[in-house]
Amino acid sequence: MVKTTSLNFIGGTWVAGERGSAIVISPQTGVAIGEYSTPSLKQIAEAIDFAHRAQREWGILPPKDRAKVLFNARQILLRDAEKISTLKANESGKTIEEARAGLMKGIEVLEFALAIQNLDLGGRLEVSKGVSCEYRRDPLGVVAGITPFNFPAMVPMWMLPIAIALGNAFVWKPSEKTPLTPWMIANAFKEAGLPDGILTVLHGSGETVEALISNEKIKAVGFVGSTKIAKLVYTKSALAGKRALALGGAKNHIVLLPDANPDLAGPGISDSFTGCAGQRCMAAAVLLAVGKVDQHIEKIKARASSLQMGKQMGAIISREQVEFLRGAIDRAVSAGARVLLDGRQAKPPVGYEGGHWLGPTILDQVQPGSEAAEVELFGPVLSIVRCRDLSEALKIENSVPYGNACSVFTSNGPLADRVVREASSGMVGINVGVPVPREPFSFGGVNASKFGHGDITGHQSLDFWSNVKKVTVKWEVQTGSDWMS
Ligand code: NAD
Repeated sequence: MVKTTSLNFIGGTWVAGERGSAIVISPQTGVAIGEYSTPSLKQIAEAIDFAHRAQREWGILPPKDRAKVLFNARQILLRDAEKISTLKANESGKTIEEARAGLMKGIEVLEFALAIQNLDLGGRLEVSKGVSCEYRRDPLGVVAGITPFNFPAMVPMWMLPIAIALGNAFVWKPSEKTPLTPWMIANAFKEAGLPDGILTVLHGSGETVEALISNEKIKAVGFVGSTKIAKLVYTKSALAGKRALALGGAKNHIVLLPDANPDLAGPGISDSFTGCAGQRCMAAAVLLAVGKVDQHIEKIKARASSLQMGKQMGAIISREQVEFLRGAIDRAVSAGARVLLDGRQAKPPVGYEGGHWLGPTILDQVQPGSEAAEVELFGPVLSIVRCRDLSEALKIENSVPYGNACSVFTSNGPLADRVVREASSGMVGINVGVPVPREPFSFGGVNASKFGHGDITGHQSLDFWSNVKKVTVKWEVQTGSDWMS
């Protein structure tokens, strides 16, 4: 396999980091597939200075001119989709279909960003005789985006296209676990004609993030990752006087009612907890099984146990994470859970024995409040909590600190509506296992799944990535004017 080297993208060129390099291991094989290097604090400061100078020109371009570059980037990303998806799958452990889907979802956000020029026309009104007020949207300047390992292209593309369409320069700090995909994405934007410095890629972990937060030229920080780090980044950014939006982890519930359509519930729930090997913030983690739903659970189990590892379900990001998941399953069993499907027994695909694998696991009789019911495990593990009625299910859903997603499977409209009203999640689905809103609807949870105001994509994101300037105008002295003229 060809090894990929991902350096730091500073001022439009690839620069080796002065703080050393590290290798990247493929979760599928356990073999080194590339390396990246981490910039020194001096290099980070210089990169931000370059971005700051470049943004002045970019920020005053008419939005339609910026959109032309984004349109070119879309064509190049589509042209290179197979290459990008293959690299992404290799470094994150995803199946090739999942890697393709993640990129396409990122491109959908780019298409939304392309449309900002036509959608966001501001507003102007004559507020009193001879006086008008109007909104104008200004870029913030240089903004930063810090991203997790589990969607190496999609999550960055939640932020990058919108931020640059609005006239900002974007500094991207990718996950140190998936640093290779950024190399291809940055090259695509360079080829598309994005001016040097409008996209910067800086590798590393906490130290690089600290350097971004403490740099006064960075005006806003977007973050996606675990709740612990999201809270840290949000707090530090706010203390530094920056606008911050930090999306955190999740423990998502699915409420399953006996009258659910079995053809929707079986595959919908199974695919939700096994997709991306459970390593997504929208994955089903807890099934709140209300009343007699064993016929549905059989279908979920049948679908999950039929998955071919490597082809239909991907690998786990690291050996340590596989160990953690195995330990969590053991602990759940010790706490009284019954194993309906045991992923610990699953065999890795032939030829991939060195990779990090765990099969789909279903635990029944999980107790509310236990680790398997409350802690984000981030793997293909579904915990079933048995509930007497919908009220009990909603009480459990509400008791978990996270608030990303909740879905209900039922044929009863009013009961579904009750779940929509009472669930303490930012994104709710009806008969949909992964209720990710599609553009132009914004993505975002509540409670411990999001720190900050607004959303990171869609309509709600425009106010995060820009300033709305209010302009009041008067050109002539008016006769017969009122108190406001
Ligand atoms: P993570 O929190 O470990 O890392 C996220 C980013 O934070 C990475 O870029 C990492 O380098 C950086 N980082 C690590 N330590 C840091 C520190 N001390 N200070 C500042 N930055 C630091 O998350 P992960 O393991 O890469 O991703 C999985 C997590 O992300 C899960 O909890 C998942 O639920 C969450 N996630 C949430 C969403 C969402 O939309 N809410 C989407 C995707 C993933």
